[in-house]
Amino acid sequence: MTPCEAHRRFAAEHPHFPGVRAPEGCPEEVATPPGLGTLAVTGMAALGRFLLGGAKRVSPKTLAARMAICAGLGGREACPQWNPKGWGGLGQCRKCGCSGIKLTWPAERCPLIPPKWGPEPPATP
Ligand code: SF4
Repeated sequence: MTPCEAHRRFAAEHPHFPGVRAPEGCPEEVATPPGLGTLAVTGMAALGRFLLGGAKRVSPKTLAARMAICAGLGGREACPQWNPKGWGGLGQCRKCGCSGIKLTWPAERCPLIPPKWGPEPPATP
């Protein structure tokens, strides 16, 4: 039994146990990317946030940190949800279906609960 299966079974058997939540955000369980309809909606929402934020990109430091978490750069183990061959080699998060481009957009966050990374804080002047 995998940790995810054990988690799911425990959550099902103990629905009112404090702190037990549905294991949908389990980082170890490889997800199936959402369908094209969902991808279109979430992709447009992300594009909207990107454009409303002035079409800025994250700093190289933030991008490197996000890439290390998702793709496992710098000797770090890749997230189980990361598919390096997805989106024609840009990389794809299986959980939300987004491409690696999302990693460069400041307002985005990892879809897991809790997220492994979040929006980039605004730069201080
Ligand atoms: S965005 Fe989150 S769930 Fe997706 S690959 Fe990166 S760390 Fe994993």
